[in-house]
Amino acid sequence: MDNVKPPKKPLIFYYALVMVIILALNMLVMPMMSKARVQEAPYSQFLSQLSEGIVTQVEIQEDKIVYVTKEGEQRARFYYTGSMEDSNRIAERLEKYPDIIYGKVIPQKENTFLSALLSWVFPIVLMIVVGQLLMRTLTKKMGGSNAMSFGRSNAKVYVAAQTGKTFSDVAGQDEAKDALKEIVDFLHNPQKYKDIGARLPKGALLVGPPGTGKTLLAQAVAGEANVPFFSISGSEFVEMFVGMGAARVRDLFKQASEKAPCIVFIDEIDAIGKKRDTNMGGNDEREQTLNQLLTEMDGFDGGKGVVILAATNRPESLDKALLRPGRFDRRVPVELPDLAGRIAILKVHAAKVKTDGVIDFDAIARATSGASGAELANIINEGALSAVRAGRSAVSQRDLEESVETVIAGYQRKGAVISPKEKLIVSYHEIGHALVAAMQKHSAPVHKITIVPRTSGALGYTMQVEEEEKVLMTKEEALDKITTLTGGRAAEELIFSSITTGASNDIEQATKIARAMVTRYGMSENFDMMALETVSNQYLSGDASLICSAETASRVDGEVLETIRKAHGQAMEILKQNIKKLHELAKYLLEKETITGEEFMKILNSPEDGGLEIQI
Ligand code: ADP
Ligand code: MG
Ligand code: ZN
Repeated sequence: MDNVKPPKKPLIFYYALVMVIILALNMLVMPMMSKARVQEAPYSQFLSQLSEGIVTQVEIQEDKIVYVTKEGEQRARFYYTGSMEDSNRIAERLEKYPDIIYGKVIPQKENTFLSALLSWVFPIVLMIVVGQLLMRTLTKKMGGSNAMSFGRSNAKVYVAAQTGKTFSDVAGQDEAKDALKEIVDFLHNPQKYKDIGARLPKGALLVGPPGTGKTLLAQAVAGEANVPFFSISGSEFVEMFVGMGAARVRDLFKQASEKAPCIVFIDEIDAIGKKRDTNMGGNDEREQTLNQLLTEMDGFDGGKGVVILAATNRPESLDKALLRPGRFDRRVPVELPDLAGRIAILKVHAAKVKTDGVIDFDAIARATSGASGAELANIINEGALSAVRAGRSAVSQRDLEESVETVIAGYQRKGAVISPKEKLIVSYHEIGHALVAAMQKHSAPVHKITIVPRTSGALGYTMQVEEEEKVLMTKEEALDKITTLTGGRAAEELIFSSITTGASNDIEQATKIARAMVTRYGMSENFDMMALETVSNQYLSGDASLICSAETASRVDGEVLETIRKAHGQAMEILKQNIKKLHELAKYLLEKETITGEEFMKILNSPEDGGLEIQI
């Protein structure tokens, strides 16, 4: 919004203001006006007017004289003056003017038309003016520009390449780009499609996890399309007045069909497109808005060239009616990037910063498996920031590697004070993970081990990086992963015979994997291929809910526990067999604080240096 918001005053303030003005008018101005007709005059004036012969009427009161004058065609005027002489004297004077009427002077009412105007019309006019002002402030608050534009959508219209984004800004996501290119092409060249008799989908729905570039893709479409591009966010439909959402939808589509061919983009459509349900507390306003959207989408002619794009990361929550053919019948998945995609995204963003020497994008991309485009963009930016912090003028490979960790685990807590004893525990814990990982067949190689605390709360961590991109996980790999996760705690038990809270994150992750193995991956003998859980929103939290009886649930718990217990035992076994290496590596890590995978493997593979133990 461009204009400064007027200070918010409650509605009641304006009404009170109007009431006060009306009261003031009636109590002060009106009486004054009627009184103003009777003017005070000095006695000498009375006498001179009397001698001029223009006095027409006189009333003698106890202490004053009220009189009326009339000069030719002029209106009668009313005066009063203090009586300076005794009444006999006055009577004597007045006898000279036989035309004067004696008696009660009733000051004539002011011109009735004017007074009616003032006492009735004026307040009404005032009311309307204040009402208008009020309306204007309210509509401004809602982002509208026109005073009477209640219910106008404030969809931003982008034309041509105003977003400054094109498909070349979107790396990876080739399938999504292909699907959208077709739409852009249709808008440029509808005849080609009409000749064959093809009908393009009315709407396309971009679905995928947050940060994968859905909004970016829509902006790129705007940049490429060269047609008007209306962009609005789902939440903007549902605003402060009931009925506004539906009005906005109507208006948006009216504007769009006037401007056809064009693209309408509704970001975060789940804000209005949620399933309508019969539960208590359903949101009427949202449902009305959704109904209006459905109606509008049915109403316009697909051949006209209005294409609707929408984006969401909660497709499962969308109303079925939105997804049926003829509405959003095309679904464009925008998934997390694979290795090639991550490399491409890193390159697109690295092109915007100055880099130093050759950057090994492959290494960075492999270390960031599962990262979204937004996170990768952030890694490049963090790298640039850390280069600036270090007083350098270009981003180096090291900056990027450091920023991968920053994004994964938070900043280094340089000032954190950790006692030597605790540092030692953390050191053994991390080597425990690394050693168990290294000694198993199905674990990813160790890439880096560090005991520098991070702002995320981690006191250290072991980073493993797969040699190649994996899309599937075997049962063996899953079990090895759990075993690796228990390795930290196992090392603590083995060396210190006591345990710490440091393993809480490991426990959580191990449980998650073990649970998924039983309930979703069919990796337990007891349950075979029975689904015991469904994932409710795959792109966000990935929360799952049980779909089995309570009895089965408790058996699932037993099985999960058994899996973890077995893994824990195995980790303990591995560490016992390699206890010398455990000591050696822990000491080395304690000294260096951060070691690479190569250093780790070198020590692990070197002949044992006989009985070096650390005093605890
Ligand atoms: P979404 O709408 O899917 O949540 P955005 O489109 O807002 O995600 O993406 C956020 C930012 O992440 C973009 O502005 C861009 O800098 C970066 N980004 C995401 N995906 C990509 C991609 N495929 N290529 C280049 N940059 C990307
Ligand atoms: Mg978005
Ligand atoms: Zn751990």
